[in-house]
Amino acid sequence: MASTVYFIDFRATPKENLIAKIGRLIEKSGLKDVVHQRDITAIKLHFGELGNTAFINPVFIRKIVTDVKSLGAIPFLTDANTLYSGSRSDAPTHLLTAIHNGFDISVVDAPIIIADGLRGRTEKAIHINKKHFNDVYIASEIVNADSIVSVAHFKSHELSGFGGTLKNLGMGCASRRGKLAQHSDVQPQIKLKKCIGCGECAKHCSQQAITLKDKKAYIDTKKCIGCGECILICPNSAIQISWSETIPVFMEKMMEYTLGVLQGKKDHMLFINFINHVSPACDCYPFNDSPIVRDIGILASTDPVAIDQASVDLVNKEHGLPHTCLTKNIEPGTDKFNALYPRVDWNIQLAYAEELGIGTRSYEIETLPVLS
Ligand code: SF4
Ligand code: SF4
Repeated sequence: MASTVYFIDFRATPKENLIAKIGRLIEKSGLKDVVHQRDITAIKLHFGELGNTAFINPVFIRKIVTDVKSLGAIPFLTDANTLYSGSRSDAPTHLLTAIHNGFDISVVDAPIIIADGLRGRTEKAIHINKKHFNDVYIASEIVNADSIVSVAHFKSHELSGFGGTLKNLGMGCASRRGKLAQHSDVQPQIKLKKCIGCGECAKHCSQQAITLKDKKAYIDTKKCIGCGECILICPNSAIQISWSETIPVFMEKMMEYTLGVLQGKKDHMLFINFINHVSPACDCYPFNDSPIVRDIGILASTDPVAIDQASVDLVNKEHGLPHTCLTKNIEPGTDKFNALYPRVDWNIQLAYAEELGIGTRSYEIETLPVLS
């Protein structure tokens, strides 16, 4: 059976501004059925790396906070620490980054609690017994929350094709150990013939795993954590992984983590995707290139698979924007994500999520009208 995905565009009128419209969207999508009185409710989002500006506007998040509070629940904003040592790799720097990006309590009206503690080690093992993992390691405060509202910025992603709700849950709620387990097969290699010795990769590798010798880059596999950042950074595509073997496993592992996050939370989760500032890469980078399509709208659903399938379809229906890094598949109906990352088949995450029983790829969109 098809799942319902509710949709609003970014149009606003004197009768209803966008913030009020977001309220109508989440009410219609059943917030009151998943968040109950006295629930401690995790609002799971990505605060954006310092220097990135594509993350969700904190003012929109405040509306979600207000509506959760109106149900008598107690919301907190949360994310788990990153694997690499950027501006969100431990709780103090993560909190400061969130505040610098505008998620101050005076703006969002809710406290931030980093879900996996000071150094990303506060975790709970969840038994799932699937193909890649028997147990997955989820940030403790995600597991401890009574209900979760996942708020994802939908964009392209270099290792999973796109990043939406499923990635916000599977990767975003994993503790450091959990993130390492998902990345363990990503082992980049330098194609020496293509390497021009510019040193960009070494400059950006958070683990100091890359050194330059005789104007060629070398990766110390003992130090490499498989974060994949260097692949995108290299201006000459000299850093590669075994795409056909690595990427399917990476995505399947991420979906098994998503399954772990959902365990025990059936009927206590709502998923929201913001399809605006659709950047070509993850919000984990300290920069973001121009959006590849126009700002489309906001989706909400209780089905995490349906909402991502609907989001990817909506982006691909669009005409690609000029003056961006999208140079192929510009026409409506062509695959924008495949144009950016031709060796990453984003279908894998959706197909495996469906196989795991996380949700269905079959959906119907209910568009909320503009009030005028
Ligand atoms: S960024 Fe690419 S070209 Fe530059 S040193 Fe590293 S591998 Fe070589
Ligand atoms: S994937 Fe690249 S950037 Fe990440 S740790 Fe390994 S060498 Fe460094």
